[in-house]
Amino acid sequence: MNPETLAIHAGYGIDPSTGAVVMPLHLTTTFERAADGSYPNGYIYIRNANPNRTALEMALAAAENGAACAAFASGLAAFNAVFQALKPGDHVLAPQDVYYGVRVLLSDLFAGWGIQHTLVDMTNLAEVEAALRPQTRLVLLESPSNPMMKINDIRAVVALARQAGAEVLVDNTIATPILQRPLDLGADYVIHATTKYIGGHSDVQGGALIARADTALFDRVRSIQHLAGAVPSPFDCWLALRGLQTLPVRMQRHAETAQKVAEFLTAHPKVEQVLHSGLASDAGHTLAASQMSGFPGLFSFLVRGGQADAMAVAACVKLFIRATSFGGAHSLIEHRASIEAPGSKTPPNLLRVAIGLEHPDDLIADLDQALTLNAQ
Ligand SMILES: *Cc1c(COP(=O)(O)O)cnc(C)c1O
Repeated sequence: MNPETLAIHAGYGIDPSTGAVVMPLHLTTTFERAADGSYPNGYIYIRNANPNRTALEMALAAAENGAACAAFASGLAAFNAVFQALKPGDHVLAPQDVYYGVRVLLSDLFAGWGIQHTLVDMTNLAEVEAALRPQTRLVLLESPSNPMMKINDIRAVVALARQAGAEVLVDNTIATPILQRPLDLGADYVIHATTKYIGGHSDVQGGALIARADTALFDRVRSIQHLAGAVPSPFDCWLALRGLQTLPVRMQRHAETAQKVAEFLTAHPKVEQVLHSGLASDAGHTLAASQMSGFPGLFSFLVRGGQADAMAVAACVKLFIRATSFGGAHSLIEHRASIEAPGSKTPPNLLRVAIGLEHPDDLIADLDQALTLNAQ
């Protein structure tokens, strides 16, 4: 089946007891045991498994063409479970510009539990190869990266990791399975913050690990999910599953509008550079076109001038909302350097925009008036 069809039909069907077309929300913590001691419907207790979580996990596994999925209460809870599944002495390779929370998890929490890590420029394959060690268990990858929107070569990194006996995990939150399917490119695992495009309405937090096969690492993550319990509630799962149904059409619109806005900004006299792989001039354009079926709805641009100029532009928008995150219907704008930790390498004149579902002309007019009033 095609992604549009899978997004609507994978994971559950008509409810046999009522005929409900939409999956019911099962607010029960416990399930009845039969007289013979068995559990005829397979469910025992909410933390182990529950119908709404199972449906979401099956639908996400189908969307990414994976064999199995474990859903968590947040994107970082999914990463946390993966790192807990490693053993002291194991080594993780991650991109320098990996999602900030993942970097802090590795440096502030897991380093103390004996998980080593190295941060590398994932676009530099020689550097990746040199950093792989016999203890390297996992290579993390994010493409596009955030907020510099660099494209990393998933197939090439997978090939290097294989030689070194390591597995590859791709954070596919920005691209989503609609624009990029890392498992089909050879990766072993995909992580999503379903908080973003999959939920799609800025109203639910969640995360998920999807595995290409039922590996030893996935089995450990599944038992950590059961034991440690950083699980999403049935309603969180219900919302994420509802969001997934419209993900294909939403992503198509996010991507089309982002392309129009990025092209407008490229031609604007008050913009120094636009970081969006959909632009033919972008360093990652050819690679993105070879591993993605469309270009992202999230991108960054550099305002002419410095931090004060970029912040003044963000201060003057009327339609874009000054807020972090992405993936919802509202367009958001964010000055990244001022919210990142000290030592951030993000250019001070960078603004990141998450293109929502408004009309492109209205978004363009809003950025135009804010840039015209400000910047140099
Ligand atoms: C938001 C995000 C995360 C973390 O997800 P939470 O639900 O906030 O924990 C991880 N990776 C990427 C790329 C994200 O955008």
